[in-house]
Amino acid sequence: MAPEPDRIQLAQLPTPLVQLSRLNEELDGARIWMKRDDLTGLEVSGNKIRKLEYILADACFAGQDTIVTEGTSQSNHCRATAAACAKAGLKALLLFRPEADGVPQGNHLLDVLFGAETRSYSRVRFDADHDQIVNDVLAELIATGRNPRYTPMGASEPLGCWGYIRAAAELAEQLRAVDIERCDLVVPISSGGTCAGLLLGLLLHGLEHVTLWAVPVSDDIPYHKRVVSRLCREAIESFQLPIELDESRLQFIDGYVGAGYGIPTPAAIATLQHVARAEGIVLDPVYTAKAFCAVLDAVREGRWGREHPVVFVQTGGIFSNFAWPERVLRGMDSDRSAR
Ligand SMILES: *Cc1c(COP(=O)(O)O)cnc(C)c1O
Repeated sequence: MAPEPDRIQLAQLPTPLVQLSRLNEELDGARIWMKRDDLTGLEVSGNKIRKLEYILADACFAGQDTIVTEGTSQSNHCRATAAACAKAGLKALLLFRPEADGVPQGNHLLDVLFGAETRSYSRVRFDADHDQIVNDVLAELIATGRNPRYTPMGASEPLGCWGYIRAAAELAEQLRAVDIERCDLVVPISSGGTCAGLLLGLLLHGLEHVTLWAVPVSDDIPYHKRVVSRLCREAIESFQLPIELDESRLQFIDGYVGAGYGIPTPAAIATLQHVARAEGIVLDPVYTAKAFCAVLDAVREGRWGREHPVVFVQTGGIFSNFAWPERVLRGMDSDRSAR
């Protein structure tokens, strides 16, 4: 096995593993735990920062000065990249599919504060000409004397998978400390690097009694299977990981995407509001609220057995709430601070 690649320390680790006591009581003795990866930091919070520790170390080692990446204008990944670059003394150039006009809000507001350069493209153009756009931007930067490093959406490249390979080791130790051997581990999936890292990590760190469940929030299962499989295979090869890829260790729970990426379902919004009141924990409308709906449904239906502990990876995303107040507060009597 090749050694673990270099990382620069950006995240506050380990993140807490906590039991959701009030929610569990409400659910008649359920055993839901949360791995608080929303607490990897404040500016540099969420799941992307674990991946960026490796990507930025790689860029710094290679003498690169600019990270080029992409996402929507409310992308948590773009914001985490912008913050991490400001910390590390690098420039960030973000290729955006804008979601709203007007004054920057939420994650986008932070991108501006962190000094990231942004370029916007229509969704249609970006999807159609993606590689061309990226290559042109990189060529342009090089022509002006800069030395850029590109990382794809979500930093979901083989090197980025190390973030969650490492997180799996961290979780293994925490599960041991609370005497949990068997559990279901649930995570939202979009660009796939988090899930791929966790799958590799479970195989590498001997967590054979942990069942990994991915809840799609953007695409269909065949797409996610393809991406995770490719990421895992490339990582196994590049880093000579001493494991056989067993794709049956990753299962999916479908039915929570709704009308599409970034469009919250009524159930997701109700879940977000419910968890905020029951636990004082804020989910996000794009990823974690949809995925946590899946957890609540499975627990309510007793799908995994009453006594079975469930660990939900809270991957972050708090700032996008502030970009969409009317979506997040839908149905609440927000003017009169309901109940
Ligand atoms: C990006 C993101 C995810 C999905 O992780 P992937 O590695 O892209 O699959 C989940 N939750 C939040 C809050 C995110 O920002």
